[in-house]
Amino acid sequence: MVVPFSDKTQHEAKAFERTKQSFCLPDGIIYLDGNSLGPLPKGVSERVATAVEEEWGGKLIRAWNEADWIDLPTRVGNRIGAMIGAEPNAVVVADSTSINLQKALAAALQLRPERKVILSDSGNFPTDLYMAQGLIAALGDGHKLKVVSPDEVEDALDDSVAALMLTEVDYRTGRLHSMKALTAAAHAVGALTIWDLAHSAGALPVDLAGCKADFAVGCGYKYLNGGPGAPAFIYGRPDLVDRIKPLQSGWMGHEAPFAFELDYSPAAGADRMRVGTPPILSLTALDAALDVWDGIEIDTVRAASIGLADLLIDEIERRCAGFGLRLASPREGDRRGSQVSFHFDEGYAAIQALQAQGVIGDFRAPDLMRFGITPLYIGEAEIIAAAAGLETVLKDRLWDQPNLKTRAKVT
Ligand SMILES: *Cc1c(COP(=O)(O)O)cnc(C)c1O
Repeated sequence: MVVPFSDKTQHEAKAFERTKQSFCLPDGIIYLDGNSLGPLPKGVSERVATAVEEEWGGKLIRAWNEADWIDLPTRVGNRIGAMIGAEPNAVVVADSTSINLQKALAAALQLRPERKVILSDSGNFPTDLYMAQGLIAALGDGHKLKVVSPDEVEDALDDSVAALMLTEVDYRTGRLHSMKALTAAAHAVGALTIWDLAHSAGALPVDLAGCKADFAVGCGYKYLNGGPGAPAFIYGRPDLVDRIKPLQSGWMGHEAPFAFELDYSPAAGADRMRVGTPPILSLTALDAALDVWDGIEIDTVRAASIGLADLLIDEIERRCAGFGLRLASPREGDRRGSQVSFHFDEGYAAIQALQAQGVIGDFRAPDLMRFGITPLYIGEAEIIAAAAGLETVLKDRLWDQPNLKTRAKVT
């Protein structure tokens, strides 16, 4: 049956009505920073309280088995895996994105011992580059990190490259790489790929298995709304992962942690990418946060996100013309992730002034005002109100106050 377009749109609007009700958002706040820290979903507090009081408090050590804490990293990993096109049991939740990136990179280098180049781009998130630099120094094996501009990546691939390490969506501009094309290009020269999905998971459709991506990592606290410092995830291609010797060879990645053997022997599959004891309370929060996604198609979210981002660009450019703003994001929706950024010389102060208007975005050095688009709880009305707020900030020069120009520790 062909669903008439209007019914479909109504159905989508209904779906987001439900998800919007699923978040605790403070009154009077328009939240355009879910790409940095997702808001609190309603069921989380209760689930965490249950884990604290009934599981930890009541069951004590028995909860590892009775509440199945021990397999929570895989259970939550499978829920995230389903959102990013991973095979079953190919994703585990563990550690932070930085640590997982280093695990994946070490694995890729090990699988290409004769090659010494790690290729990345200047749009990558700095921690990814830092973790590569640290790994190179620790290995002491002559590896080099080669950083090119985002549009030069494909041409820089050659048979010296062991690993292509990229973030799919640029955290500053929102520019989206083609995972499919670049993974194929990397494989054509014999390189392996590591994709950072920090700004992809929960933001747009990802097809890890279909792209034959080798490794991937990403955050639990951005579009997945798992809470501050939520554990991250790591994916390893099932046919590769059994061949790696983990850099961080901890007991939780051992094939038999409770055999307490003196020598390390990795578990089969993605479990070998686990290291130490999982943070059960944070994992429980992330698990509960993922309930919001039940019944929601990521394609629906993507379509709404592109529409809302287009609207934000139009509204800001129309209302704020003549104030020196310049769009930093790709104008074409299919070349963008789920955020919109503008250059503005006084961007930091303007973002502070906008917060005072109840609109929360963020600032990224040197001059970017960044707005995350999250259709689960942001609709057209919020987008228009946010643009109107920015218009007020610029027209009335609300940014031009000394107290708004002193940068806090976290921007
Ligand atoms: C947010 C982000 C990270 C953060 O890593 P943590 O280890 O969780 O602090 C890493 N990579 C990218 C691309 C990010 O956007």
